[in-house]
Amino acid sequence: MSLIYDAAALRRELHEMPELGLKEFRTSAYVAEKLQALGIETQTNVGGTTGVVGIIRGTEPGPVVLLRADMDALPFKIDGKDCAIHACGHDAHTAMLLAAASRLVGKVRRGTLKLLFQPAEETLKGAPAMIKAGVLDDVEYAVGAHIRPIQDVPAGKICAAVRHTASATTFVTIKGRGAHAARPHLGVNTIDVACRVIGAVQDIWLNPTEVWSAKATQIHANAGATNTVPDTCTITFDVRAGKNPLMKEYLRRINLACEMTGKAMEAEVTVDTPELCPAAEYDDDLVEEIAQSIRDTAGVENLAKDCGGGGEDFHCFKMAKPELKAAYFGVGVGATPGLHAPNMTFDEQYLPLGVNVFVDFVTKKMG
Ligand SMILES: [Zn+2]
Ligand SMILES: [Zn+2]
Repeated sequence: MSLIYDAAALRRELHEMPELGLKEFRTSAYVAEKLQALGIETQTNVGGTTGVVGIIRGTEPGPVVLLRADMDALPFKIDGKDCAIHACGHDAHTAMLLAAASRLVGKVRRGTLKLLFQPAEETLKGAPAMIKAGVLDDVEYAVGAHIRPIQDVPAGKICAAVRHTASATTFVTIKGRGAHAARPHLGVNTIDVACRVIGAVQDIWLNPTEVWSAKATQIHANAGATNTVPDTCTITFDVRAGKNPLMKEYLRRINLACEMTGKAMEAEVTVDTPELCPAAEYDDDLVEEIAQSIRDTAGVENLAKDCGGGGEDFHCFKMAKPELKAAYFGVGVGATPGLHAPNMTFDEQYLPLGVNVFVDFVTKKMG
């Protein structure tokens, strides 16, 4: 009698052990134990992290396919206490992939199936660590999935492509000159400069038919006294763009706007964008294979239209390996009030929908 996992039951257990990125120690031990119980070859401690890879090898040549779930929870401060909560549904993703694994044992005839349980999606550190560890080296197809909030995909429906945008955090540091507030002409007020910098960034126009936005999300300046002109100010911008080339152009223009504004006001401005989360770039044929699996398992009427928004470090895979064919579907589970809300809940009866898509897709491609 083969062992079949119930995604909802696994998810309930995983929900009780929320852990932050790269600290998913209990979660990864749980995943490894569940894979090993299925007799699946299991690599732990992948790249020196909490990452886990399960491998199911076929007996005939064929594609190398990677299915990916993320494992990390989100940090919150509740009643003054730091805590971790699975508010983005990564417990659900891990549960769905384990449940799919239990149904795929013995079903892979052609090629190699890799089941990646990735750490630290929220901090965007996990995917780069998996790339560095060589997990992608032999992979030709990569498929991920995420539960969707009710605003994106209705409960019980599945979309074949979640069109994530590129996102970046840009840090701007302005150095001016402090002065007594009664003698402002002797100083360079970095708050004045910051206002112009924000205005200059907001005055950048990109193609209005594309998706893009940049907004200041943090600003800090405080000389200590209320009557001193501050000599330093830092601004943080959250930057989004629907496509990767557009993001590149946007960041170039933002750099220019910040630096030139600083120059005009005789302040020293440095701009740094240390991390970039790429936009989704999917293979149309692979997305169609996923769409077909949705039609065949959930019914034509439950194939939802593509949704968008948000970021995902899954797309670092394609950026690191341009020849990779990628797809990423979204499962409507009735999540409310929205992802990243500490009280996010959803209906676990819909988790098998995602499991079925994984199983059907792999069976068709590798069975
Ligand atoms: Zn998230
Ligand atoms: Zn997430």
